[in-house]
Amino acid sequence: MSERAYLDWNATAPLRAEARAAILVAMETLGNPSSVHREGRGARRMMEFAREQVAALVGAEPRNVVFTSGGTEASMLALTPSAPSADAPIERLMVSTIEHASVRAGGRFAANAITPIRVFGNGAVDLDHLAEELSAERARGGRALVSLMAANNETGVIQPVRAVAEIVHAAGSLLHVDAVQAAGRIAIDINEMQADLLTVSAHKIGGPQGVGALIRRDESLSFPEPLIKGGGQERGSRAGTENVAGIAGFGAAAAAAGQRLEAERAHMAALRDRLEAGLLGISPDAVIFSRAAERVPNTTLFAVPGVKAETALIALDLDGVAVSSGAACSSGKVAPSHVLAAMGVDAALAAGAIRVSVGYATHESDIARFLQAWRKCIAALGKGRREIAA
Ligand code: PLP
Repeated sequence: MSERAYLDWNATAPLRAEARAAILVAMETLGNPSSVHREGRGARRMMEFAREQVAALVGAEPRNVVFTSGGTEASMLALTPSAPSADAPIERLMVSTIEHASVRAGGRFAANAITPIRVFGNGAVDLDHLAEELSAERARGGRALVSLMAANNETGVIQPVRAVAEIVHAAGSLLHVDAVQAAGRIAIDINEMQADLLTVSAHKIGGPQGVGALIRRDESLSFPEPLIKGGGQERGSRAGTENVAGIAGFGAAAAAAGQRLEAERAHMAALRDRLEAGLLGISPDAVIFSRAAERVPNTTLFAVPGVKAETALIALDLDGVAVSSGAACSSGKVAPSHVLAAMGVDAALAAGAIRVSVGYATHESDIARFLQAWRKCIAALGKGRREIAA
C-alpha cells in the first residue's frame, strides 16, 4: 500500500469528476454574467443552470438561491438582526452550543444578543430549553432568529430540524439551518424541514472550495441586508462579479450528489460500520461519541482513554492516514472541542477525540489501512507507556 488514505471528508471532499469538467468548461468560457451580449448571456446561462442544480439538491426554487464565497459567508449573511422579515424586529439570535464557528460567531448580532441553546449528552439539541427561551423572548415582545445545524461536523449527529422548526414558528420566530455537513449525505428538503434559510457549501459535496449558497424557503421572506454591497448581482443580495467557474462546479457536484445520494449513503454507512467494528476490535476501550444517536453515514468521532489526539494524529499521518482531531482547526493547532464540552464529555477524554470521515470515493482498503495504522499507533503508544512506567 503506497497511496495515502484520506479520511477527512468533513474538512473537505475531493473534487468530483463532474465538477472538474464543469469548472474547466466555465473557465474556458468568456463572458461576465451581467453583460447583455452573447458572451455575457452564455456565462449567465451556465450560472443559472448551476443555480437550478443546487436548488434541486435541497428542494428549493432556483430564484431563492444566493451564491456566496462559501458556507461561512452564507451563514454570516443569514445571521442578521431584523432579517429576513422586516415586519417585527428580530433582535435575538439563538444558537445551539455545538454550532460551527461560522454560526457561533453570531453574524451581525452583538455578543449580548446571542442566547446559547443546550444539547443533551448524545449531541442532540434540547427542545425544551429552546421552547423556554423562545417563550421568554416572546414575553419580552420580541422574536428570535434560531440557527441550528442539520448535522454536526464533529459527531455527525443529525438534529431534529423539523421539530425545531415547529417550535420556532409557533413562537413567531425564524429558523436558519446550516446544512453544510448534511447535504449530500442525507436527503435535505427545505420545505420538509421548514427551514426559513439554509446554508450549503460546495467543497463538502465534491465541488470546489470557496463557493456556497444561502437559500430561502420562499419569497415571503426577504433576503437579509447584503454583506457585500456595490453592485446588483444575485438580485441585489451579494455584489461582485460571480465566481462562474466555482458556481458551475458547485452545480455539477450538487447534481451528482443528489442523483447518487442513496447509493453513496449506503456505501458510506457500510464503511463507517466496518471502521467502528474494527476500531472496537483493536481498542475495546474506545468511546465512539453519539454512537446511539442518529448520525450522518460518514462520520465517526472517538477517543481512547490515555491517548492524546495530537500524538495519534501525527503517528497516523506519518503512516499515510489523514484524519482529524475533532473539528478541523483553521490555525493548524489542536484546540479542545467545544462540541464535546457542550455534550458534557470529560475534558481528558475529549482531548483524545479523533474524527474519521469517509466519502463516496473511500474504499475498503482505506479503512483497512486506517485500522492497520491504528493498531501500530496503539501498540507504539502502549510500549511507550510501559517503558515510562518501568
Ligand atoms: N458549517 C459547517 C457545519 C462546517 O463544517 C463548515 C466547514 O467546515 C462550514 C459551515 C463552513 O463552510 P465553508 O468552509 O464553505 O466556509
